[in-house]
Order: sequence, then C-alpha cells, then structure tokens
Amino acid sequence: MTDDGERGAPGKGLVQGLAVTLKTMTKPSTTQQYPDVEPELPPRSRGVIALLEENCTVCMLCARECPDWCIYIDSHKEEVVVPGAARARQRNVLDRFDIDFSLCMYCGICIEVCPFDALHWTPEFEYAETDVLDLLHDKNRLGEWMRTVPPPPAHDVLGEPSKEEATAARKAAGPGAATAAKADVRRATPTTADRPPREARSKPEPPEQPQ
Ligand code: SF4
Ligand code: SF4
Repeated sequence: MTDDGERGAPGKGLVQGLAVTLKTMTKPSTTQQYPDVEPELPPRSRGVIALLEENCTVCMLCARECPDWCIYIDSHKEEVVVPGAARARQRNVLDRFDIDFSLCMYCGICIEVCPFDALHWTPEFEYAETDVLDLLHDKNRLGEWMRTVPPPPAHDVLGEPSKEEATAARKAAGPGAATAAKADVRRATPTTADRPPREARSKPEPPEQPQ
C-alpha cells in the first residue's frame, strides 16, 4: 500500500529488499582482522589514561570531579628544607594513585580538570583482563602508559605565545633585552612633550548649519 492508499505491484517490496541485499553484498568489506591485523586508529583516540607522576601535586581535583568516583588517591606530607628559607616547607608526596577502569566511563573530565597536565589520554587500548579486579591500574602501571602518549599538537603559528614562552624568550635574550624593549616602547609612545604648542593646533571646524 502506498502513501496515497493505492496498492503497489505484487512482489515490488520483495524485489526492493533483494536489491538492497545485492547492493550490500557487492560492496567491499570493511572488516578489520583484529588481532591478526592492528587497526589504524586516529592518533588521539581515547584508549587508556596515563599518569605523569612528577606533575601531580595531589590537589585531588580529578578525584573530586570524577563522576564515577573511580580515582583513588592517598598521600602524605613531607618537610623540605630550603637553604636560606626561614622555615622548612611542606610538600605532598603521592602514595597511591589508582584508576579503576572497570568503572571508568572515559568521559575525560579528570584529564580536563587537572591543572598540572599530570593526566593524559593514550591511544593504547589493549589492556583487557580476564579478572575484573586487574582493571584497577596503580600509579606505576598508569605511569607506564606515558610512553604511548602522542606529543602535543603544534601551536597555532598565528597565536600569541603563552606567558611561560614569553618569559623564557625574555630570559634567553639576556638581562638587557627587557630594558631595551621597554625603552623602545617608551620611544614609540608619544608624550606631552611631543605635542605641538597650543597655538599651532588648529581648532576643529564648526559643523555646517543647514540652509
Ligand atoms: S575518564 Fe571520567 S570516569 Fe574515567 S576516571 Fe576520568 S573522570 Fe572518572
Ligand atoms: S588533578 Fe592532576 S595534579 Fe591534581 S591530583 Fe589529579 S592528577 Fe594530581
């Protein structure tokens, strides 16, 4: 039955269905023979999460923001004696950093919120286990994934350098460079002394009155 309520030719639907089947059968197959053949994944695929331990300050932001509560962090404080400082400083030392990948839903929030770039996506996906408890990766295992993290994308050539890059460039240019640059800016900026005398400044023409 068509949309207009008319009955179509008998067997038309069957022929249309077989035509779709035939078309699909003759299409080249896109099956990938994994695990015999490695799949070609985009370089920034979300496989597993890696931890760069030396960047982690134990701020706990990732654990607090994780919607699945599958990040477990323990730490203790340590005194660091800084020569010349009035008193010893304290720093957090990471004792435990685990992610339970049996709960993780790969939302990436922990990576986004980390203020110190301690967490990274890697395209590594071959970490299936026969025991679900083995999907709890500790800080050593998370650290091992760092070798598979792709390098960060190149900066936009038209973008402004970051504050850190600008500071590094200033330091590399030497101590006199900043003073010279300031002097150049001062020279290029007109001051009141550069203004012409009052009498030499022409008064603006009054607007023409309508006739
Ligand atoms: S990816 Fe999402 S669910 Fe997984 S650990 Fe990070 S915040 Fe939690
Ligand atoms: S947010 Fe980053 S720095 Fe803070 S605890 Fe998590 S991994 Fe460490």
